[in-house]
Amino acid sequence: MTDLKTLVKELCRIPAPSGFERAAAEKIAELIGPLADEVYTDAMGNVIGIKRCGAPGAPRLLLDAHIDEIGFIVTELCGGFVKFAPLGKYDPRLLPAREVTVLADKPLYGVVACLPPHLLSEDEKERAIEIKNLYIDLGLSEEETKKLVKPGAPGVFEGEFFELSGGSVVSKALDDRLCAAVLIKVMENIKDLPLKFDVCFMASVQEEAGTRGAAPGAFGLEPDFCIAADVTFALQPDTSKAETFKAGGGVTIGVGPNASRGITQRLMETAAISGIPYSVEVMPGSSGTDAWPIQVSRLGVATAIVSIPVKYMHSPVETARLSDAEEACRLITEYIRGGRLA
Ligand SMILES: [Zn+2]
Repeated sequence: MTDLKTLVKELCRIPAPSGFERAAAEKIAELIGPLADEVYTDAMGNVIGIKRCGAPGAPRLLLDAHIDEIGFIVTELCGGFVKFAPLGKYDPRLLPAREVTVLADKPLYGVVACLPPHLLSEDEKERAIEIKNLYIDLGLSEEETKKLVKPGAPGVFEGEFFELSGGSVVSKALDDRLCAAVLIKVMENIKDLPLKFDVCFMASVQEEAGTRGAAPGAFGLEPDFCIAADVTFALQPDTSKAETFKAGGGVTIGVGPNASRGITQRLMETAAISGIPYSVEVMPGSSGTDAWPIQVSRLGVATAIVSIPVKYMHSPVETARLSDAEEACRLITEYIRGGRLA
């Protein structure tokens, strides 16, 4: 199978914003097919792969990562231009002069219009332009735009995968397809291992719309334990050390009400035994990940949160160290290999 870096690249380039994940889901179903005993897509669009240990009534571990990305939805056409609203959260200051793809019947490339600085008023120079006042230029006439684009069409920001010196990768959608790639590699690693429990893989949808896919996904699977894999904030010059984690320093393991004690402790022990670098990420409230709804699914699911630091989160240039993703893969693989859930 492909190496982690190639897999990350393949997954990140797929355009699949929240609520419109089909293209990513199909690719992931194809990848997970040979690694699980059963693969299906549920009514929400979550892709689920179940690997059974063979023992009847065995406990279930769920591995979760979301596959939607931030993007936008076309709200109206304005002459030959396209107005849009956000899918997911991002800073409107990032938008002018961005390259985008509108996912009409055939994908259409476009740019978010911006004013030349010469034409900006003093007031406009001082503040960000609100998203409702931005528009996309597809290069089409008014008639062509009307014919090809309908309100409700989704779209994504372009952000080609590339590498920086020192082992960093840059792409749109590293949040959270970096983790989806990690979990696919975990499923590959455990393919021929004797298991003491069932392992379920879930590529969840609509996380960026408010962790909406994971809840019904977990309800259907009825897991006993869960590891939610997501990205966290990496240290950058303009952040505080207390809220961020150094890229290249390994994974983070969440601690707080959203992180069930036994499984979290067991992951830390596994990291210590296997020499996997990790930081404790203190989470006083919601982790802001799929772990939040999964933990309270049905009668409750013992849930842990493993995260990979990413710089410039929710931008088209999300940046992560591949070595941290490799450590996440090693940690979850070793945890499963260890055979003890908590
Ligand atoms: Zn996110």
